[in-house]
Amino acid sequence: MTMNTDQLFEKLSHKLSDQYSEAELILKAEMAAEIIALKEEKNAVILGHNYMEPALFHTVPDFTGDSLELSRKAAQTDKDVIVFCGVEFMAETAKILSPEKTVLVPSNKAGCSLASSITAEDVRKIKAQFPGVPVVTYINTYADVKAETDICCTSGNAKAVVESLPGDAVIFLPDEYLAGNIARETGKHIILPTKGTTYPKVEGVDVQMIGWNGRCEVHDQFTVEDIENVRASHPDVKVLSHPECKPAVVEASDFSGSTTEMIRYIQDNELPKYLLLTECAMGDNIHAENPNREMLRMCSVRCPHMNQIQLKDTYDALKYNQYEITIPEDIRQRAFQSVDRMLKIG
Ligand code: SF4
Repeated sequence: MTMNTDQLFEKLSHKLSDQYSEAELILKAEMAAEIIALKEEKNAVILGHNYMEPALFHTVPDFTGDSLELSRKAAQTDKDVIVFCGVEFMAETAKILSPEKTVLVPSNKAGCSLASSITAEDVRKIKAQFPGVPVVTYINTYADVKAETDICCTSGNAKAVVESLPGDAVIFLPDEYLAGNIARETGKHIILPTKGTTYPKVEGVDVQMIGWNGRCEVHDQFTVEDIENVRASHPDVKVLSHPECKPAVVEASDFSGSTTEMIRYIQDNELPKYLLLTECAMGDNIHAENPNREMLRMCSVRCPHMNQIQLKDTYDALKYNQYEITIPEDIRQRAFQSVDRMLKIG
């Protein structure tokens, strides 16, 4: 059943009245109703990443989740148009899996510091230095980088992907901290480039993970000191960190996992208070669903790319068919192999 403006206003008031004024909620409900009407007219599906702002997250998406879950939904849809309310590499992954669909991302400024940290040429140079070593690429990369690699991974399955590979050595790109966290979990020794794509020669050490120096500009900001300060004033808090955080931050946390794993942890553990070390909007969205849980979050730390996408941008995406994702077919096919191998691992 399609919700009208009054029903959307009621839903938003119920979930978000502590985050927006009544006047704001009325405007957002009106815009959401227009988007939903347009979505039906265009035979479109809207996917909303967990980091989307609450008024969008709780109204227009047909599906919400992390980038991999949403790409799986994109691959299964029978709609003509996919509007991916997330950043560009996510919409690209949807296009890799669903080449026959029109895939739109509502802003042409929704990049990612991790995805832009490495190029396909960088990957070719690294492979030339370590011939025969399998290459794992985090899903937070662009299609041409995925096309150079053997298999993709997400923060939720990175350990399983690394452990699925033959031999001890692996090239793991581009997130330095995720690589560090997986190296610790799998007992591997990691090296990082000293300059450009040049790696140090390490004598007498069995190098098992070759990393890169990409970082998420959001998760990079959390520190062990932040955790200590919050624990000092809230001794009963459970600290949940994303594996894109520094290894020392992950070690100082009670739990680390992908956005979906963090949400599941909160649903499965009925504790009163959590500190979420990830994009602040996710805490807002979880709090809206679980008003009895206190979500401590550091909202001075926001993702400027995710924040590009608001309700109005989503409306414009549908209205004006913007911004369409295109990938050259040879690159898409090679990137597909990398994503598909990961999907087969689960
Ligand atoms: S939160 Fe970090 S990894 Fe996610 S889109 Fe923003 S910069 Fe990229």
